[in-house]
Amino acid sequence: MKIYVADKGDTLVKIGNRYQVDVAQLLSVNPHILNPEAIIEGESVNLPSQSLLKAEARVVVAPFCPPVPQSEILHDWIPLTSAEQMAENEYDVLIVGSGAGGGAALWRLCEQWGNNDKRIGMVERGPNFLPTHVANIATMNDDKYRLYAPPQITDLIGNRLPQYSGMKLIYALGGRTLLWGAVSPRVPSYEIASWPVSLEEMELYYNIAEEVMNVITSYTKDSSITQVLLDRLRANGYFNADVIPVATDLDQTRLGKLHSNVFFSSIVFLARALSRRPFDLAVNTYAAQVVTEGGRAAGVRVMTPDKKSYVIKAKNVILSARALQTPRILLNSGIKGDAIGRYLINHSYLIPSASVNTAGFAEPLGALGIVVPELEERPYRLQLQGPGQFFNYQYDHKPVKDEWRISFYVSGKVEARYENRVFVDPSRRDEYGMPELQIDFSYSEKDIAVIQEMYAGLLHASSAMQLSIAELEGKPAICQQPPGADNHDSGTCRMGDDPLTSATNRYGQIHGVEGLYVADNSVLPSLGASNPTLSTVALAIRTADYIMSLLR
Ligand SMILES: Cc1cc2nc3c(=O)[nH]c(=O)nc-3n(C[C@H](O)[C@H](O)[C@H](O)COP(=O)(O)OP(=O)(O)OC[C@H]3O[C@@H](n4cnc5c(N)ncnc54)[C@H](O)[C@@H]3O)c2cc1C
Repeated sequence: MKIYVADKGDTLVKIGNRYQVDVAQLLSVNPHILNPEAIIEGESVNLPSQSLLKAEARVVVAPFCPPVPQSEILHDWIPLTSAEQMAENEYDVLIVGSGAGGGAALWRLCEQWGNNDKRIGMVERGPNFLPTHVANIATMNDDKYRLYAPPQITDLIGNRLPQYSGMKLIYALGGRTLLWGAVSPRVPSYEIASWPVSLEEMELYYNIAEEVMNVITSYTKDSSITQVLLDRLRANGYFNADVIPVATDLDQTRLGKLHSNVFFSSIVFLARALSRRPFDLAVNTYAAQVVTEGGRAAGVRVMTPDKKSYVIKAKNVILSARALQTPRILLNSGIKGDAIGRYLINHSYLIPSASVNTAGFAEPLGALGIVVPELEERPYRLQLQGPGQFFNYQYDHKPVKDEWRISFYVSGKVEARYENRVFVDPSRRDEYGMPELQIDFSYSEKDIAVIQEMYAGLLHASSAMQLSIAELEGKPAICQQPPGADNHDSGTCRMGDDPLTSATNRYGQIHGVEGLYVADNSVLPSLGASNPTLSTVALAIRTADYIMSLLR
């Protein structure tokens, strides 16, 4: 008889299987163990010596490898630290929010600093819900992922905000980049001319952003539907019509390096950052307030779902919580600034029910992706994707037919006005006891004039492309998205030189508060009609460079 000390998770049944000895026999020599299914970790088990010999006999040339110690087993797909542990450290840079802006700033710091002695941390309110962009999941396609709004990460806050009724908040590691369309244009240079950053510098940072996000125009290469509609547009005076720039990695797997993240998300920023150096990341960690000392940033007060509160100390804080939440955190922290929360901008949107007859087009049609960028004299963009919204096919059946429904959006410039604002309402508290978000928003007369132009432009371009627009009650079926539904909210902590009309300086630092920065859509002073994310990423990288230049 041998004595065996039961290991973690062991039961008598498991031990019997392992050593090929009958459970009834084991029970008879171990009267102290009543239930053969019970976990008996640490208990001594009498084992008939033959059985040990039998197990060992099966091992022909080498002993069994030792089990992996419990402490080394990975429980998550990304290393996590708790808020409690983070509160024991002081960070050189602490980032709030892991979406496009936060992810870009983190990647740049890690990439440039490498393995130096600086400490970098990130806190994210949402869970580590998905490890990739939704469109990279095999069961999704364009139709489905646009409707995907899991309640664990989605707050339909627009239901209580009549002036911004289309708005949804997404709280998850990766932020809204888990769901975004990845369309990544640059803002036109005449728009950037009013920003406090030179065109040359923007050019440099756009180049870096496009490279790290894999912004390419070849997504729709060889697609006949794209080519035919592009030719029709150009022949009808839309000289700047072009293929759509999308942040997609179409590289094939080479040298064992996987390219499974076709659609870019901020998770790729986190992965690239991790491959350069470690950083601390706490999920399900709500940033409630920025802590300041002597007029400069000193940390962030965070809360966990059990409502425990911690202060995480940091020499530099970057707020990247979205153009709606970043000003809220600043206002809830008592940070002063006339422009904080003001100048909320977004895009007006018109969406027709459009289709195209593809009889005679070369097969396969491929994916449609066309943009007609705005011009100074035409302050709206046309964007076409599809067909039938199968921008990406995944495993969907594509029926053979001639008439295809396509996604056609027209987005218009919205003026930056002081009256359009995000503010906090102390009479209404969220689940963490913090004053809730409120929004004042309306279109100006100029914005409405742009929407009227968009309507006429949409019909003109549709006829140029020979699209059919469905009819509803004798009128073209064209609808206007409610404010907030565009997901392009920006400008609420705009960059500028004048603290009366801007919240941050030209590097994203809050005027008058050293060490406190903003790196998300909030800093964009204007958008024109262009999607915001590429510009946010470019400026977040620039802000990270600025912080590093001060910490040298
Ligand atoms: C369906 C959809 C399609 C889109 N398509 C496009 C497109 O094609 N092109 C384009 O340019 N843009 C597109 N967008 C918009 C794009 O996703 C945003 O512009 C971009 O993600 C903005 O980055 P951000 O860092 O400002 O905010 P987010 O990416 O939203 O990140 C903010 C992060 O902060 C976290 N957070 C919030 N509050 C707190 C808090 N108190 N404490 C800690 N963390 C907090 C959030 O959970 C989130 O992770 C789309 C968005 C959606 C939803």
